[in-house]
Amino acid sequence: MPVPSKTDLYRKLPSVDELLQSRDLAAIVSSEGKAAVTDAARIVLARLRAEIASARLDPTGVDLALSGIFSAIERQLRQSLSFSLRTVINATGVILHTNLGRAPLAASALEHVRDASSGYSNLEFEVETGERGKRDVHVDRLFHNLLNQGHAGEGARATSDISTIVVNNNAAAVLLALNTLAEGGEVIVSRGELVEIGGSFRIPDVMAKSSATLREVGTTNRTRVSDYERAINEKTRLLLRVHRSNFEITGFTEQPGIHELSALARERKIPLMEDLGSGALFDLNSVGVRGEPGVLDSLQAGVDVVSYSGDKLLGGPQAGILSGRSDLIARMRSNSLFRALRVDKLTYAALEATLLAYVKRDYDAIPAMRMMHLSKDEIGKRAEAVAAKTRSSKLAVKVVDGESVIGGGAAPSAVLPTRLLAISCGGLSADELSARLRASDPPIVARVEEGRVLLDLRTVFAEQDQRVIAALDQLAR
Ligand SMILES: *Cc1c(COP(=O)(O)O)cnc(C)c1O
Repeated sequence: MPVPSKTDLYRKLPSVDELLQSRDLAAIVSSEGKAAVTDAARIVLARLRAEIASARLDPTGVDLALSGIFSAIERQLRQSLSFSLRTVINATGVILHTNLGRAPLAASALEHVRDASSGYSNLEFEVETGERGKRDVHVDRLFHNLLNQGHAGEGARATSDISTIVVNNNAAAVLLALNTLAEGGEVIVSRGELVEIGGSFRIPDVMAKSSATLREVGTTNRTRVSDYERAINEKTRLLLRVHRSNFEITGFTEQPGIHELSALARERKIPLMEDLGSGALFDLNSVGVRGEPGVLDSLQAGVDVVSYSGDKLLGGPQAGILSGRSDLIARMRSNSLFRALRVDKLTYAALEATLLAYVKRDYDAIPAMRMMHLSKDEIGKRAEAVAAKTRSSKLAVKVVDGESVIGGGAAPSAVLPTRLLAISCGGLSADELSARLRASDPPIVARVEEGRVLLDLRTVFAEQDQRVIAALDQLAR
């Protein structure tokens, strides 16, 4: 018998029309619509043709593929119609994980987003007068409440004249501030603070885009206030301090205190801005993080404008926030860039609800804060329970000491003591094991360290523990 040619094999494939008319697809055609099923059938047929063309399918292979073609179309359809953006379980112990969406939103934030956006809202409308309003009023009073502290402690300035505006993210906030305050002029920055964050936010690049000129002073490890003083000239518009969010310089180092810098700025009548990156609106000491300025600390130390993200330590939606002297913020508000960088109602709603939790001192309402406040013992108990309930005999599960990471550009070395599930499985490498965890539904993202897979339940919501147990049981089947 002659060997069938590729043309013979192509001829065996049904047409899209034949497939659509078949009774086997009738049910999904009526539930998902003819257009979607047609697309799925085309994709499956194209795949088969490609496999024939590259000789990956012989006659038997084609027959086998054809016998399963209806379920292949259904699978393809399910895949095409499912979301790409989906839930994952964060078992890395990094609370503000940039790749996993940073801060999870508070329940009250989600509720407010739904209420404010499933219908119409007073986003830019004054209900009382019936006139056009401003979108920033919705968060203004809350920032005011949180940041205007008439009486400050010793050595701190009272903050009574602080305004705030919100843009898309902190990178946008820095761009807007530099462009507004220093376009065509010079901005003095320490060489030790010329940071790159997340691969695409580089201070020198943002500076260039803002049409301000970067004036570097000091050296990578040492910059003194006298370095700033000497660099000031008639073109100087701004002194900029940038938080070292993702690295630390240790050893022989010197950086002027923020009080010294603000004294210099005041004396020379040049504004001082600080890019905090991660702006905490709570006392970081309460979670054991020392030496990191919060938003209020910086303002009380005399910084004129601070910029920070909404979805880092603040625990809210993605946003860039600029808080500072009212006259400077007013200039930023009237910059046409502000219109281009403004945020939508979803962000305002989520931010308003998050800020309200701060005003009410209801910190546990904010998931990132709740995770920071979990004790090692509480996490240990959950880990022991997960270990005890995992029955698979091939899997070795131990509970060991370790550290969680705050992330999101808090102090790079800011860690919290935790208890970890250390998992191993005979015959599987740590990388294979963690790949299998990612293949569960929802995917579980773990840490691999020193050849071990480690799960930190600090960042796993307690109601997800059952899912973790089920996934672990599946792993070693
Ligand atoms: C994170 C960070 C940024 C960028 O903030 P996004 O909100 O991600 O745009 C800028 N500067 C510093 C110091 C940061 O830590």
